[in-house]
Amino acid sequence: MFENIRIVLVNTSHPGNIGGAARAIKNMGLSRLYLVSPKEYPADRAVWRAANALDVLDNAVVVETLDEAIGGCALVVGTSARDRRIPWPLLNPRECGERVWQESASHDVAIIFGREDRGLTNDELHKCTYHVHIPSNPEYSSLNLAAAVQVLCYEVRMASLVDAEGLIPALTEWDVPPARAEDLEMYFQHLEQALVDIGFHDRDNPRQTMARLRRLYSRIRLDEMELSILRGVLTAIQNFAFKMKKLTGSSENK
Ligand code: SAH
Repeated sequence: MFENIRIVLVNTSHPGNIGGAARAIKNMGLSRLYLVSPKEYPADRAVWRAANALDVLDNAVVVETLDEAIGGCALVVGTSARDRRIPWPLLNPRECGERVWQESASHDVAIIFGREDRGLTNDELHKCTYHVHIPSNPEYSSLNLAAAVQVLCYEVRMASLVDAEGLIPALTEWDVPPARAEDLEMYFQHLEQALVDIGFHDRDNPRQTMARLRRLYSRIRLDEMELSILRGVLTAIQNFAFKMKKLTGSSENK
């Protein structure tokens, strides 16, 4: 199950933090590190801080976009040192550990961490199913990146130990697997286009519409079948709108 859990660091500035995160990951029995466009990597400072976790660094997957890093994941958890404008379904670190551990039994899961100076962007946070905040001192809430990785990996480890004692109930059986990040992303692009086509949404004046719709869907946790039905509905709506436009267009021409 540990194999199905990815720790994703987005746009890290200090390579020492990448090494520190690798060490934290290995200490807690995890192994998969993804680096999204790190500012300086590979780097000696990463190697020094990784101590004996060089295997985690050697196997780290470096990608350009967050979408690539979370591709294939059906649960994505975003971490944040502070409150954001639109509140999102929230887990505390303990609940996060349990959920990540439970879900890793059946599919890939990602926990994503932001930049040292400004965390994750709203767009990145809106790709997540849940957000997690480590309840730190409100007057000094931001942990060092590698320390935050340590806390959340520790909670996953604790959940695995509690599970070994048979204390974590299994997820209820579901007939269809949960939708994966890339399919959800495709759905949101499709939804936005369909809403433009029917005149509901204006890309030049988007307000918070798409963020709120993303949040609505992440509360529901769509499965693959539901997602494909919804995409079919969007296509039908688009075809209908297209036909109506042609009809009214041709009557105007008369
Ligand atoms: N100034 C940034 C802090 C970034 S700290 C901001 O305001 O968002 C770098 C990263 O460490 C964060 O993006 C997050 O992934 C993690 N982190 C730090 N403190 C955290 C906390 N209290 N809870 C959850 N994640 C935290």
